[in-house]
Amino acid sequence: MGLRRPRQWFDAYLFDLDGTVYLGDEALPGAAATIQRLREAGRVVRFLSNNPTHSPQVYAAKLTRMGIPTPVEEVTTTIATTIWWLRRHHPHATVFAIAEEPLREALALAGFTLSDDPSQIDVVIASYDRGFTYAKLQIAFDALWFHKRAVLIQTNPDRFCPFPGGRGQPDAAAITAAIEACTQVRCTASMGKPSSALLEAGLAGVNVPLERCLMIGDRLATDIAMAMNVSMPAAVVFTGETHPGDITDQYAGIYQVDSIDQILPD
Ligand SMILES: [Mg+2]
Repeated sequence: MGLRRPRQWFDAYLFDLDGTVYLGDEALPGAAATIQRLREAGRVVRFLSNNPTHSPQVYAAKLTRMGIPTPVEEVTTTIATTIWWLRRHHPHATVFAIAEEPLREALALAGFTLSDDPSQIDVVIASYDRGFTYAKLQIAFDALWFHKRAVLIQTNPDRFCPFPGGRGQPDAAAITAAIEACTQVRCTASMGKPSSALLEAGLAGVNVPLERCLMIGDRLATDIAMAMNVSMPAAVVFTGETHPGDITDQYAGIYQVDSIDQILPD
């Protein structure tokens, strides 16, 4: 039995999106009112998404449409962290991204050379790609296994993206696994939760110590693990992937709430 809802306010609130603030195109009950209360109380609000198929602009517009007015600066996705990481570790890389258009566009805009010539590729990026094909897998295979020059990274480690009605869609873990299986090259970096890359990018410019921040999310292996890795307070919300029965002893210090409105004290 862990903690239930927090008895105190925090200075900054970091929200996962899918399964926490909304499901599909519907805001979850209490989401708009809770975030409005936080803003009125002058708290920092940020949104962190592992989904690399949309730009922050798309999420800000979606939230605003749902009655949660959100400036684009408050949203960080793995598109931003992938570029941030590449600039830091492979600033002149030629990249091959098994990814959808928003990531490919952002990479080109950031000055990276995109190539499907395996002899030129320095970094293979495995992402959530609903246009994944055998031909793309072959290019990754040739760059990693035959030419032995590229490294393999992924935008996010999620197995699937949750959809309403208990359904879902295969996510970047499936693409990564396909590449690893045929090349035996391991993915060496992940740009999404639980990696702290997304947290660092999301909190850029926010001057609040981690112990005064609360991470709110529906997934133990990503949202909650990221917070626990840096000893940051966290609340798991039971509106997405996790059910109360999934909570084991290792999560004893994590707040557990049935819905987003319970992250505020009574
Ligand atoms: Mg989620």
